[in-house]
Amino acid sequence: MCGIVGYIGNQKAHPILIKGLLNLEYRGYDSAGIAVIDNGNICVKKDKGRVENLLNIEGINDLKGTIGIAHTRWATHGKPSKENSHPHSDNSKNFAVVHNGIIENYNELREFLKNKGYNFISQTDTEIIPNLIHYYYSQNPKTNTEIDFLKAVKSAVDDLKGSYAIQVICKDYPDEIIVVRKDSPLVIGKGNGENFIASDIPAVLSYTKDFYLLDDNEYGVIYRNVVHFFDSSLLEHNKAIKTIDWDSSSAEKCGFEDYMLKEIYEQPTAIRETVSSYLRIEEKCNFESLNFTKEYLSKIDKIYIIACGTAMHAGLVGKSAIEKLCRIPVTVDIASEFRYRDPIVDSNTLCIFISQSGETADTIAALKLSKSFGAKTLAISNVIGSSITREADYTIYTHAGPEIAVASTKAYTSQVVLMNILAIYFAEILEKSNKNDLDNLKREIFDLPSKIEKTLDDSEEIKDFAKKVYTQKDMFFIGRGMDYNTSLEGSLKLKEISYIHSEAYPAGELKHGPIALIENGVTVIGVLTDEHLTQKSISNLQEVITRGARTLVITNQVLTNINFDYVINIPCTNPLLSSIIAIVPLQLFSYYISKFKGLDVDKPRNLAKSVTVE
Ligand code: GLU
Repeated sequence: MCGIVGYIGNQKAHPILIKGLLNLEYRGYDSAGIAVIDNGNICVKKDKGRVENLLNIEGINDLKGTIGIAHTRWATHGKPSKENSHPHSDNSKNFAVVHNGIIENYNELREFLKNKGYNFISQTDTEIIPNLIHYYYSQNPKTNTEIDFLKAVKSAVDDLKGSYAIQVICKDYPDEIIVVRKDSPLVIGKGNGENFIASDIPAVLSYTKDFYLLDDNEYGVIYRNVVHFFDSSLLEHNKAIKTIDWDSSSAEKCGFEDYMLKEIYEQPTAIRETVSSYLRIEEKCNFESLNFTKEYLSKIDKIYIIACGTAMHAGLVGKSAIEKLCRIPVTVDIASEFRYRDPIVDSNTLCIFISQSGETADTIAALKLSKSFGAKTLAISNVIGSSITREADYTIYTHAGPEIAVASTKAYTSQVVLMNILAIYFAEILEKSNKNDLDNLKREIFDLPSKIEKTLDDSEEIKDFAKKVYTQKDMFFIGRGMDYNTSLEGSLKLKEISYIHSEAYPAGELKHGPIALIENGVTVIGVLTDEHLTQKSISNLQEVITRGARTLVITNQVLTNINFDYVINIPCTNPLLSSIIAIVPLQLFSYYISKFKGLDVDKPRNLAKSVTVE
């Protein structure tokens, strides 16, 4: 989950490394560190806490080295501390390593190395890696002959079980960085006489737009002017460059106080981009990367949508859209559950996977499992060339631009839009829905950006309500049908960035238990956007008001005779799309609560943006 950065060139490495880490801090922020080859020695500077702390470490500004590696950590093994921070070195300080992921057999390897006389100063799984490299480097145990840097790294990596993206530098090889990955992301940005390494493209987007996307079990040996690539047997091969069309300013705050607020306000643009890529009013939907036929889709007897967190909530909306327009049963599953519960999947199942980063470990594992059962797999991601897109049979992209804040906003709404467009695409192929209905839905999709703009313009009231309730300990979100899906996502946002405990319930389910928790002053937020269900939900809200709850209602209906504390009116749209508009005030609600509490909105505690570990 951590962020990795590397640099080799002719400029001083440490400012570039630190800038890259700051760009990547959304991936992990327990601790940070860099290692630079300076005057023939590997010099490591690291500490627990935020990347900014690095700037105050003694001697950091004296570093002159032009090659280095860097890391911002999301601890899995060992608490955040200076010793546990990366980079880690071997006992002889000949190697320095940064690692993203988990080494599952580290205990066994640690015992092995201890028996060979190696000492350990951290509790991390990572520290075995530089020592194991040293072990192979100093002697090839099989032939007792010296082996070179790359071969030593390969021998060590062959012993590792788990997931990793690794960068290694060696004092004896001051002009190269070796990288390798398995189930964790790593990209190499190609510059002019210099090269950049990062876990995510935005970290180094201000330096280059040309990237090599490293594959699983592939090694890169990176020099100033060239990069050599090797497979897992160290056979060399060529690799194509991908040019990324993201603008580097899209990965910066551009005057907004926080990335999250910027990304909330970017939703109209993000949706316009996604919609214009796939939807035309007078034509059938067309995804160039998909070639589904009527024969194939008619054969599909069920669809799984598999994802985690916010992406799973987008999947719930996708389920409603596909079932309504195509009448194919859809099951939405949490990836970490799906992969271990013996799911019923075969060649008549279509499995759709949603992941903003395309690097979510559980979702990728679920995809591989579905493939092994013979299902076709379709990935929805926001990141070109990400791991999931390389595993899946088909990929379609949301075009939301880089999302930096840990709590997802524009990626969610773009995913929901894309799921609706996908449902229309299926319906058109299957000739299942009425053409007029589909055309109306398309028009409503085109109108979404301006309706979101209107909702964003009216944000004062939501800020006002947030100010009234930000000290509360518990809140409830209720809704029926699509509004329940929106409630789930609203509740997740609140938990993530405000640390307020909250629950989302189908409104009709309250009286089956949770209503026991309602007492004087508890906040209940009702989402009411479906005219057929509004009266039912109003009755449920009355039940909580009677028991002392304070209520906020988000609605696109005209409500009369109401006794709610606050009502936020939003524009009407097709019920399948309502979540895209109704979630906006809820995103702002969580944002303002977090601000009123003085919290770090973009980097909430214990979380990281792309969850590359199980
Ligand atoms: N497992 C390693 C650690 O706990 C790496 C964690 C990360 O990916 O940041 O240090």
